[in-house]
Parts: sequence; structure tokens; C-alpha cells
Amino acid sequence: MLNLVLFGPPGAGKGTQSQKLIEKYGLIHLSTGDLLRSEISQGTELGLKAKKLMDEGLLVPDEVVIGMIESKIADNRDAAGFIFDGFPRTVPQAEALDQLLEKYDQGITCMIALQVDEQELVKRLLLRGKTSGRPDDADEALIQKRVVEYNTKTRPVADYYAQQGKFYAIDGIGEIEDIFAKSCEIIGACQLA
Ligand code: AMP
Repeated sequence: MLNLVLFGPPGAGKGTQSQKLIEKYGLIHLSTGDLLRSEISQGTELGLKAKKLMDEGLLVPDEVVIGMIESKIADNRDAAGFIFDGFPRTVPQAEALDQLLEKYDQGITCMIALQVDEQELVKRLLLRGKTSGRPDDADEALIQKRVVEYNTKTRPVADYYAQQGKFYAIDGIGEIEDIFAKSCEIIGACQLA
């Protein structure tokens, strides 16, 4: 299996690159943000609880997202692989993901981190907010809060994969196609390793 973690702060371009990678490698896209928004639109109890935190720019509890990922992996055992987008966002989530994949004798192939400076992130997210309909993209103070959550809780996840020799960083500012080509180069090298 090819199991990729696409990493980076909100607005780094994870969703855009995910779509291209899914098409090329035939992977299943697992975005915890999308899964949570789907729970919200269905009005589930989980969705209602998550919405409160998401609207404040805060992370939802680890067990909630781990549970969602666990059931998606179990439902797609025959997949060519997965692309994890916006997950794991904490070290305990990364540890849980390793344990989940181990159950199927699988592991993470590599993490690709899209690096974008804070000023550019805020600019991109405010622009996306004009059309995305996402309340958390519409307000600059909320965007800053999400970036703080990223810096404090999510950044250490990069070290977790670096320790396993699976961390690869790419400049996330530039042409979409160039960033995609670099991602494919990294994936190719990791598949050979
Ligand atoms: P995203 O679409 O990835 O930007 O996620 C939107 C929001 O959903 C985040 O700001 C968090 O509140 C929540 N969320 C998404 N994925 C996770 C995760 N892996 N862990 C905790 N909260 C998450």
C-alpha cells in the first residue's frame, strides 16, 4: 500500500495536492476536516459537538478523529492506499494511526510537508473564505487561532515522522504543477526505498 500523510498549516494547499495525488495513484482520500463537516451537515451529535470547537478554531478531541479514521480504514481494506489530509494533527493521533495500520501489516510510506509562511496563509484563507462558505475561513482572528493550534499541537507531528526517516518538506509557494511534480518525485523515491 501507498500511505501518504499530507502535512502543513491550514491554507498550505493540502486539499489541492490531495486531489492530484489521488488521481495519479488511485488512493482513498481521508480528510478529517471533510469528515467532520459531513457530520455537521448531517446534524449528528458528533457533528454538533465538533462544530463548537471548529467554529472557535480549536482542534476536536483525538478520540473523535481517530475513531472516524479507524472506521474508514476498516471499510477500505482493499484500497491501493490512503492519503491522510489534515490528520494526524497531534502526536497521539500519529501514534494511533501507526497502531491502526499495523493491524493490517501496513505503515505510513512518507509524510510530505507543504511549507508556507504565515502571511501567505492568512491571505489564501481569507480569499478561500469568500467562496468556501466555511465560517472558519471568514475571520482573520479565527485564522490566526488555527495557525496557533497548528504551531503548538500539530508541528511536533513533523518530528514524529522525521524520527522515523519519513519526513519530506516542499516549498508550498509556487505553481501547483511544480509542487505536484516534487511530491511525485519524493513518493517515487520512497516507494523504491
Ligand atoms: P481542516 O478542514 O483540515 O482545515 O479542518 C477544519 C477543522 O476541523 C479544524 O480547524 C479542526 O477544528 C477540525 N479538525 C480537522 N481535522 C482534525 C484533526 N485531525 N484533529 C483535530 N481536529 C481536526
